Amino acid sequence: MSDLVEVIDTNNKGIDVLSIRKEFPVLHQEVNGKPLAYFDNAATTHKPARVIAALKAYYEQDNSNIHRGAHTLASRATEHYELTRTRIKEFINAPSAEEVIFTKGTTEGINLVANTFGKKFIREGDEIIISTMEHHSNIVPWQMLCENNNAILKVIPIFNNGELDFEAYKKLLSPKTKLVAVVHASNALGTVNPIKEMIDLAHEQGAKFLVDGAQSTAHLSVDVQELDCDFLAFSAHKLYGPTGVGVLYGKRELLEAMPPYQGGGEMISEVRFEKTTYNTIPYKFEAGTPNIADVIAFEQALSFINDCGKENIQNHESYLLGYATKKCATIKGFEPVGTANDKVSVMSFNVRNTHPFDVGMMLDASGIAVRTGHHCTQPLMDWYGIEGTVRASFAVYNTTEEIDRLYESLVRIAKRNN
Ligand code: PMP
Repeated sequence: MSDLVEVIDTNNKGIDVLSIRKEFPVLHQEVNGKPLAYFDNAATTHKPARVIAALKAYYEQDNSNIHRGAHTLASRATEHYELTRTRIKEFINAPSAEEVIFTKGTTEGINLVANTFGKKFIREGDEIIISTMEHHSNIVPWQMLCENNNAILKVIPIFNNGELDFEAYKKLLSPKTKLVAVVHASNALGTVNPIKEMIDLAHEQGAKFLVDGAQSTAHLSVDVQELDCDFLAFSAHKLYGPTGVGVLYGKRELLEAMPPYQGGGEMISEVRFEKTTYNTIPYKFEAGTPNIADVIAFEQALSFINDCGKENIQNHESYLLGYATKKCATIKGFEPVGTANDKVSVMSFNVRNTHPFDVGMMLDASGIAVRTGHHCTQPLMDWYGIEGTVRASFAVYNTTEEIDRLYESLVRIAKRNN
């Protein structure tokens, strides 16, 4: 496999993009006769070779069901599976590994909280606060809960630049607020919300706070003890790890007070026809055989991130975002959507007089992968009065040379209709 992209990293001294790229087999290919430039990282990141190798090694050497077996393969698989839990505890600085629950992804983590915490603690007339920029997975579970429990959903407005209206948030909070569920970093706009201040204010009213960390965990250092959040949900596949694995962190006293999510094997202590007692956390929330191979491989994604250094990743991505935003702003007809002061590496935009989908197709013809559409944030798109955007989102392996190609293609596309 040859590296088709000539990359000279002159921007970031802390990171060697060239050798990082060598770890990602998928990057070294042509798409439509051009070297692939992958800017769809907010949807999912690519996987380094060590993650792919861990998946293969598990199936070739250790394949076994975990926690139950008395044999060597089962204990090896269990050890590796639980090692990932410990690494996640370190990654988010959770007080203990028992507060780390494996899920399918962010979506399942949020649904778990809605169906357990929500079922037990949200009553008629209680209020749940979300924001205008939430992903559908942080809207619909709360709508369903409100419908079931006769609770009320309140929505924090935003400003045109994509920042939350903090004063409006303060006004929405009251003793009726039982839960606030807000995205740390918006997948559609890139906005980083002042989550710590928001959590402190919610706690003053006695409300719990769930952080949607699907995007922020990939770009920022997220420390659950420093934030003092009650729940944090995120997905491995946006963190250079496999699909089908996610994490729900929850504070011990809450997880212990919450009823189980699903019934089945693993989540029980004793089962009798008369009565079943449940396992301790985290197993109480992990019914059935989990996604063992992908959880194990996730550990290698965390090792990749640690080797790069979270701060180096952040610096490199913020350099790329600044470079792209400044360069593309010079294009006639380039209309950025989301210009908050504090952003992760998401550049959302439209090209005047051109449908976002057409922009995406034309970029694809040049080997450039972006996402187009509503990004699972339809209410946000409605708020802006647009159908969707084109989104270029940058990861640690992206380069300014790739952004130059994006810029040149956009110049050509914008010229057609402007
Ligand atoms: N929240 C945000 C902010 C996201 O970006 C995403 C994924 N696009 C999700 C939630 C849902 O994540 P998943 O599909 O991995 O469950």
